[in-house]
Amino acid sequence: MSCEASGKIWLNGEMVEWEEATVHVLSHVVHYGSSVFEGIRCYRNSKGSAIFRLREHVKRLFDSAKIYRMDIPYTQDQICDAIVETVRENGLEECYIRPVVFRGYGEMGVHPVNCPVDVAVAAWEWGAYLGAEALEVGVDAGVSTWRRMAPNTMPNMAKAGGNYLNSQLAKMEAVRHGYDEAIMLDYHGYISEGSGENIFLVSEGEIYTPPVSSSLLRGITRDSVIKIARTEGVAVHEEPITREMLYIADEAFFTGTAAEITPIRSVDGIEIGAGRRGPVTKLLQDEFFRIIRAETEDSFGWLTYI
Ligand code: PMP
Repeated sequence: MSCEASGKIWLNGEMVEWEEATVHVLSHVVHYGSSVFEGIRCYRNSKGSAIFRLREHVKRLFDSAKIYRMDIPYTQDQICDAIVETVRENGLEECYIRPVVFRGYGEMGVHPVNCPVDVAVAAWEWGAYLGAEALEVGVDAGVSTWRRMAPNTMPNMAKAGGNYLNSQLAKMEAVRHGYDEAIMLDYHGYISEGSGENIFLVSEGEIYTPPVSSSLLRGITRDSVIKIARTEGVAVHEEPITREMLYIADEAFFTGTAAEITPIRSVDGIEIGAGRRGPVTKLLQDEFFRIIRAETEDSFGWLTYI
């Protein structure tokens, strides 16, 4: 997935040219993975361009920073404004937005507290993450030999740069084995999440997803799907899920800002249900996209117009 130069990047309070938004090679983040970030989408609909769940993403960014004792030298409102300004400044109608907070250039060594905390916001045009047709036909996933971090190793609830070393290992292994995406287990061997997505299954018309205690990032799309499902009268269970529950599920799908709601058509080469998008997945996708496209009332207050 390329990130095409799209004009300007907000860096520590100023709009700078895309090419000039650089860091020193001795920045702490380059050596020790000390960043926290967000991935946010802005969608074009009949009323204009709207950022999806902006405040919730910015809140999670600040939570991630808090976990790592990083003091962001801005308020949440200021970062929300910076994000809106970045999209507006670049004239983007539909885009992916990447705010990142990182330990910058100052001191070397693991102890990070004397390094500055730098903040950047970039935005660029981006389509479907797992391929446009994936939303309809689904993807093939494989359970990874790499597990998600155990609870007392690294905090999975922080969306931190370093966590994605684990995701990269799982994703590379999955692609080498011919899958589109990896599914990782938690420390206890229960299903956790994808390399960059949460996971759900449908069994007898009810929805199951692993709990936060299964070493996962509490996804904002995950939360959206849970809220939509409950509003539609579909029961949602957050409980530990075994690998074989996926194999015998009627439907399964990934959720994420990038992946949106992507059906899983097979796991470890075993077809899930009918091997294509099922009716519950479709119902959730339809409602999710109706909200985003302003074809129904934004009753949850999820859209921030540019
Ligand atoms: N888990 C991981 C590891 C992720 O990287 C992401 C993407 N941010 C998600 C889950 C889904 O989170 P969200 O729906 O907030 O994008």
